[in-house]
Amino acid sequence: MLIKKISLTHTSTITTQLLPVVEHFYTLQGEGFHQGRAAYFVRLGGCDVGCVWCDVKESWDASVHPKMTVDEIVNTVVQNSSPQKGLVVITGGEPLMHDLTQLTAALQAAGFETNIETSGAHPLSGSWDWICLSPKKFKAPLPSVVPFANELKVVIFNKSDFEWAEKYAALVSPQCKLYLQPEWDRASIVTPLMIEYIKQHPQWELSLQIHKYIHVP
Ligand code: SF4
Repeated sequence: MLIKKISLTHTSTITTQLLPVVEHFYTLQGEGFHQGRAAYFVRLGGCDVGCVWCDVKESWDASVHPKMTVDEIVNTVVQNSSPQKGLVVITGGEPLMHDLTQLTAALQAAGFETNIETSGAHPLSGSWDWICLSPKKFKAPLPSVVPFANELKVVIFNKSDFEWAEKYAALVSPQCKLYLQPEWDRASIVTPLMIEYIKQHPQWELSLQIHKYIHVP
C-alpha cells in the first residue's frame, strides 16, 4: 500500500494513498441506525472473511479493482453528493484491511460524516463518526474493535445466529444500538423467528435492507 503525503502549505496536503475501489455511488442508507439517510457509499476491495452468503463476493480480491488516491475519492464524493455534505459510508469488502486514517481525515476535513461498516476482523484505523460492527462467524471480530461500535448489526441466517448476536451484545458498550437483520435470501424463513425474538428481547431492533425493496443500490 502506498502512503505518501505531500505538504502544500501549513494547512493543506495532497494525500496520495492508493485504495482499491470496487464501486462508489450516492444513494440512501438502507440498513441500521442511519437507514433512510442520503449517503455516499465507497466500497473498498479486499475481504478475507469468507461469508458463504456474501452478496459482494466480487469485492474479495482487491487486486482486480482500480486504485484511487484518497484525494480522488474525496473529490469524487464532493462532486457527486449534496452540496450540504452529509454521510459517507465506507464499506467493502472488509474496509479495515486498509489503513483508513488518511481517508477519514480528508473526508472529515471536507465536511463529511464518516461511517464504516465492518466485520471488525482487522485492526481499527481512521476517525469515525459512526462505527457499524457486523460480526461474522467466518472470521470473528478483534476484541480491540468491539468496544468502539456505535451499532451492532448481526445478520441472521439461521437460529444459531441469535446466540452469536447475544455474545457480541454482551461485549459492546452500553450505548451501542442493537440490530438484527435477516440474510436476504433467507428472509422469508428467518424474519418470523426474528420478530418473535425481538418481541421477547426488546433491546434488539429489526434492520431491513430497504434499498433492496426500493430498488436503489
Ligand atoms: S465480511 Fe462482508 S464482504 Fe466480507 S465476505 Fe462477509 S459479507 Fe462479504
